[in-house]
Amino acid sequence: MKANKNAADDAANPNPSPRRTQGPSIAIPDWQVVEKISEDCFYEVDQHTGRKRKIEKSRCCCGQPVLIEREGNLGRGDGKRVFYPDEPDLGWDAFRCKSCHAPVSESVPGAEYEK
Ligand SMILES: [Zn+2]
Repeated sequence: MKANKNAADDAANPNPSPRRTQGPSIAIPDWQVVEKISEDCFYEVDQHTGRKRKIEKSRCCCGQPVLIEREGNLGRGDGKRVFYPDEPDLGWDAFRCKSCHAPVSESVPGAEYEK
């Protein structure tokens, strides 16, 4: 089942951030870990928008480190979004590993599709 509580939180939180850091209109998210669930799983909050997300650290079979956003309302239909810790997070959802080009749903533990 997909949890939609994050979406509800977002709707109830009209972006209060008054400060802009870089660029004319796009605020770079400033994610800070707020709650560790385990060594590889944690919640973090964007200091600009207050948006909270659950992140799971994983790794492609080729060794490329990846992050998996869980319970999100972006990206895939099952609430997962795959991106990389070693480049700016621009909201993209990686479909294939940037290193070995395998579909991440097959090569990254935790990134498989769920219903
Ligand atoms: Zn790979």
